[in-house]
Amino acid sequence: MTFPTKAKYVIIGAGIHGLSTAWHLAEKIKKNGNGSNNDIVVIDKGGIASGASGIACGVVRNNYFQPAMRELMAHSVKIWESDPKKFSYHPVGYMQISPESMRKDVTTIYEQQKAIGYESTFIEGEKDSAEYMKNMFDDWQAKGITSVLHEKRGGYANNSAAIYGIADKAEALGVKIITGTEVTGFKRGSNSKAVTSVETSKGTIDCEQVVVGAGPWVKTFWDKLELPNKISIKDDKGNMHDNLPMWKYWFLTEGVLGVDPNFQKTNDGKMPPVIHVDSDAPLYSDVDKSLITDKMWGIYYKPDFNFNGVQGGAAPYELSKPAGEVKVDPYGIDSPEYQTTDEFAHMWCSALAHCQKRFEGKINVYHKGPSGGLGCFTPDSFPIFDRFCENVYFIADSNHGYKMIGVGELVADEILGKEKDLLKPFRFNRYEKGELHPTSSSPFPWS
Ligand SMILES: Cc1cc2nc3c(=O)[nH]c(=O)nc-3n(C[C@H](O)[C@H](O)[C@H](O)COP(=O)(O)OP(=O)(O)OC[C@H]3O[C@@H](n4cnc5c(N)ncnc54)[C@H](O)[C@@H]3O)c2cc1C
Repeated sequence: MTFPTKAKYVIIGAGIHGLSTAWHLAEKIKKNGNGSNNDIVVIDKGGIASGASGIACGVVRNNYFQPAMRELMAHSVKIWESDPKKFSYHPVGYMQISPESMRKDVTTIYEQQKAIGYESTFIEGEKDSAEYMKNMFDDWQAKGITSVLHEKRGGYANNSAAIYGIADKAEALGVKIITGTEVTGFKRGSNSKAVTSVETSKGTIDCEQVVVGAGPWVKTFWDKLELPNKISIKDDKGNMHDNLPMWKYWFLTEGVLGVDPNFQKTNDGKMPPVIHVDSDAPLYSDVDKSLITDKMWGIYYKPDFNFNGVQGGAAPYELSKPAGEVKVDPYGIDSPEYQTTDEFAHMWCSALAHCQKRFEGKINVYHKGPSGGLGCFTPDSFPIFDRFCENVYFIADSNHGYKMIGVGELVADEILGKEKDLLKPFRFNRYEKGELHPTSSSPFPWS
């Protein structure tokens, strides 16, 4: 493929967002008959799925406390369901299993899922919750659970396979995906902030619109475009807080228990929903019975043939370093600095054993080796979908966006001039306007 010197749309990043945007943009252009599909170029410094999308756990759920997030997820789930085979999507469902301190929040989620027609079952009370879980897994033994939200839709997708599926769809419509090519800078117009060309390690591409879908590398592009690294946020009482950091990094802790995935089948021999348990019950070591924590903890897990075991994670931790000092490269399992630790393995395996007897004594088959990855988070840990510098569209999903396969469809519409209500609650100016999303009592920053 000859390197293009010109393209109407340059999309940076061949992860879920860059490729979903490219695919949908190409599809819409074809449908409208008002352009050429050769106009779309995706550039990635690595390969397809070489960023966060290629290491994600791949969980797809609707369970968000924020109404705007739930509506956005319902839209994305429809796209996952549109071609499960191509997206390596497993629609096994998803369960949020919670203690009393979260019951009110989860009740709201259930009620609003009903209101938007997103199918789920809600069980309340300690006895009924235990019974519901034991009907699914006869070895269920988690303590202090007083509600179970069972989403019948959602599930998980095989991380890289899904991204390759989207890439195929985009390429079939004429999108050029250029890998091994780093975007190094931008040329701007003389009288405006608009980007006129994208500079890369292989040459310069003149363009009309740029989309940044750079996942954990979003700050690089934010800085190149001289966007603010400190911002002001109005809180819910109307007080303004100035000088707050725009970006922060969290490390997502995940791992795999090396058991046959069939080990986690339900009582009736089926593949189970993705399980997410939050708990305030004391968590004891499955190795020596010592107390691991008496504070709120949370884990998620699913049997997964792609990972060859039961795969999942626990709540992430925020890096104490300022964002400007965090080295994102080398990323993921290649990072010498950011990897899950033995402490994570101990906590996660003990928590699995806390929930289900079948996991007792299984820490010895935990897959040792690199896992987990960095994520770049916004000030409120919710996405920013917005246009900057006139013609640069940022998809900054705050690192919980693998599930958001549909965002690219909505962004494609916005790029073609059609504003989308589902994206409006995620504009950058929500911080200074104080139009923030409600926060929940979950131990995870993104729930
Ligand atoms: C361990 C882990 C588990 C996760 N699990 C889940 C989950 O279960 N469910 C969920 O919804 N989300 C999950 N996430 C979050 C999710 O993976 C990300 O939010 C999502 O994949 C981000 O997609 P993206 O397309 O924005 O970025 P990425 O997939 O990171 O793609 C960005 C691309 O940009 C490229 N790039 C960067 N800089 C340049 C440059 N200068 N020039 C050219 N190309 C460049 C990179 O090579 C990369 O391929 C997880 C994240 C991690 C780290």
